[in-house]
Amino acid sequence: MFQDSQDMRTNLSELGEFGLIDHLTKGFEPKLSSTVKAIGDDAAVLNFENKHTIVTTDLLVEGVHFDLAYMPLKHLGYKAVMVNASDVYAMNAKATQITVSIAASNRFPVEALEELYSGIELAAKLYNIDVVGGDTTSSTSGLLISITALGIAEKEDIVYRSGAKPNDLLVVTGDLGAAYMGLQILEREKEVFKANPNAQPDLDPYTYLIERQLKPEARKDIAPLLKELGVKPTSMIDISDGLSSEIIHLCKNSQVGANLYEEKIPLDPAVISVCEEFDIDSTTIALSGGEDYELLFTISQDDFDKIKANPNLSVIGHMTEEKEGMHLITRANQKLPLIARGWNSMEDKNENSEKKE
Ligand code: ADP
Ligand code: MG
Repeated sequence: MFQDSQDMRTNLSELGEFGLIDHLTKGFEPKLSSTVKAIGDDAAVLNFENKHTIVTTDLLVEGVHFDLAYMPLKHLGYKAVMVNASDVYAMNAKATQITVSIAASNRFPVEALEELYSGIELAAKLYNIDVVGGDTTSSTSGLLISITALGIAEKEDIVYRSGAKPNDLLVVTGDLGAAYMGLQILEREKEVFKANPNAQPDLDPYTYLIERQLKPEARKDIAPLLKELGVKPTSMIDISDGLSSEIIHLCKNSQVGANLYEEKIPLDPAVISVCEEFDIDSTTIALSGGEDYELLFTISQDDFDKIKANPNLSVIGHMTEEKEGMHLITRANQKLPLIARGWNSMEDKNENSEKKE
């Protein structure tokens, strides 16, 4: 359905490992003063002076985390960087360097890896991140990408999952559910394409959703925004698995409960209309969809006035005492226990291991 520009086919073996590394990384000039030595030695050398260092890794496996039938390689490279940067931003820190390790089978020509690296390069450039190393090896099946991201923060600025207090407000950035619905559209079109390779899908109405799935943008802007507003979150996490499981992580790590208000969950109109088309509940999608790469955090009620006018930030609930549990308050004012995927009225009851009152 999506074709990468792979008319040229240069076998990986033609360049050899070192030739390939040189070829893929030739555009990667380090820009940050904290990068002392980037690619080209046995290891990179970084200097963060007195700042705390943030480290995070993600591994993406073909067939498990991505499907190249609808994921162009350039987008995959971009998204792999975003997934990691998002974890750094979720610590209220700044992402600074990444290392990129890849394993590719000989199904992938050099040109395919060039596409992948063009996405990595674009993301690194736009997010002001240096690529400082990696590893390159072969795989017997498919493509694997592992990225490690480093970041920095002042000790006192770092926000953990564990600091939320009862009565803190629960805040989310952006809107939710679009990436998941983008994936549904892509899966549907893949089936249509399989049945009829000449079909020309009209994906225009779904542009926003597909972009959120294929080209997510990590929230680099939020840490500086909060600093400017004079707000330090009490806890924070990024939304990779769906709102509901991230709320549960915050609650468990902070030993608090939460009330989430259905009517407050921010949804793009495109999500609402495509959920109608697929006949699924948009709240379920926001709660369980995942891959939004927005940030979820808690703030003291005293800080409400500082954030209330900001269009990037929505207050969606508040924290409670731990014994009160974690609940979704529906539009009909029903109180349903939150579970890791959706809420219990939608799921197998056995899966609902959360405490009930
Ligand atoms: P070593 O044998 O010490 O592992 P390599 O030959 O694998 O060294 O790597 C040489 C240099 O190229 C190192 O700086 C390494 O970090 C970098 N590098 C290797 N593979 C990649 C890659 N896929 N992306 C970015 N840098 C890489
Ligand atoms: Mg190596």
